[in-house]
Amino acid sequence: MTIVLFSAYRSFPAEVQGLGHHSLGMLSLTASGLLFCAGPLIPEALLLFVANSTMLGGAGMMLIGTQLFYGRRPSWWWLALAWVAGMVCLVGWYVISQDYALRVAVFSLLTLSFYVAQLVLLVRHGERHFSSWFFGALLLVQSLVLLLRLIAALSGAVGTSNASNGAVQGIFLLTANFMTLMMAVGFMTVATRRLQVVLEHRSNSDPLTGVLNRRGFAAAYQREVALMKRHGKPMTLLSIDLDHFKAINDQHGHAVGDQVLVHAARTTVSVVREIDHVARFGGEEFIVLLSATTAESAKATAQRIQASLLAARGGTVPDYTVSIGIASQYAPDESLEALMARADAALYRAKAAGRDRSEAA
Ligand code: GH3
Ligand code: MG
Ligand code: MG
Repeated sequence: MTIVLFSAYRSFPAEVQGLGHHSLGMLSLTASGLLFCAGPLIPEALLLFVANSTMLGGAGMMLIGTQLFYGRRPSWWWLALAWVAGMVCLVGWYVISQDYALRVAVFSLLTLSFYVAQLVLLVRHGERHFSSWFFGALLLVQSLVLLLRLIAALSGAVGTSNASNGAVQGIFLLTANFMTLMMAVGFMTVATRRLQVVLEHRSNSDPLTGVLNRRGFAAAYQREVALMKRHGKPMTLLSIDLDHFKAINDQHGHAVGDQVLVHAARTTVSVVREIDHVARFGGEEFIVLLSATTAESAKATAQRIQASLLAARGGTVPDYTVSIGIASQYAPDESLEALMARADAALYRAKAAGRDRSEAA
């Protein structure tokens, strides 16, 4: 699983964070497992410090990975504090008293805190999707196992050493190894789901402005047609074209032209509602589909877009204006091509009438 996580870390896009830390965490946990197995071959003191610190570090690294995955600030201080607490506990074990149950209790509590923190993150920020339920269920099981281990330690049911053959001890070691593996499977499940969402978003959006591309817009239009069949309300299309954009490119350069396109897209998105759809149809032409909107209220929206662009004058990009063609669809059986042709005809009239205005079909 370390290799699976590492290769995902190398190949997944930057939007999927935390894979590297989970991979490192998994590597540490595997190493600590191997060290515990190699018990008789290594001096006990060295084994205890090295194996326990890699185990704590590994579990903490997974928390850091999950925090990065959900866009949270990683709690390095927490990891450091838990690690120091673990090491102090081990020093106490040597210097004060070799209380095995107390040592197990402290380490169970510290690792438990890492898993509970991940569970809380998932509940707060996880997507409502099977992958989150799966990863969350695994984190819950792992937390419960550690909690039981903690309770067992406090009630003296863990024996006197790692090698003692108590039933609780045996079940714990088996479950712990299995769950460590499953934890990586769980994280891979949420990471793969994120990858799917990221790729879907990329294939549906324009890389320069971030609004929908033709493909994404076609899908949004189909959803609106299905809605229209149910509620029967009209939808309205705005065809927006930047005025004399070639001149902006010629005067300020292509890079500034690109910034103007990004500005136009952002301004439009900020004016329309969340349920509306903004797309870039190549070049300097934007399309807005206003859900459940009549031509009259669409006219007001078009004017608001133009007013916002006007308000942005003297800002970070050169002044520019847009012309807008408006066309409404009242019946679900009209095609997108026909609707767009009507909006484009209206846009042409706005251009012919002197630009910086909107015209309805
Ligand atoms: P009009 O008012 O009639 O619309 O004039 P216009 O200059 O805006 O229209 P025209 O179609 O003549 O020019 C569009 C320009 O848009 C030409 C092209 O170089 C530029 N363009 C197309 N895509 C991009 C892009 O992605 N970035 C930049 N910077 N310019 C682009
Ligand atoms: Mg233009
Ligand atoms: Mg154009």
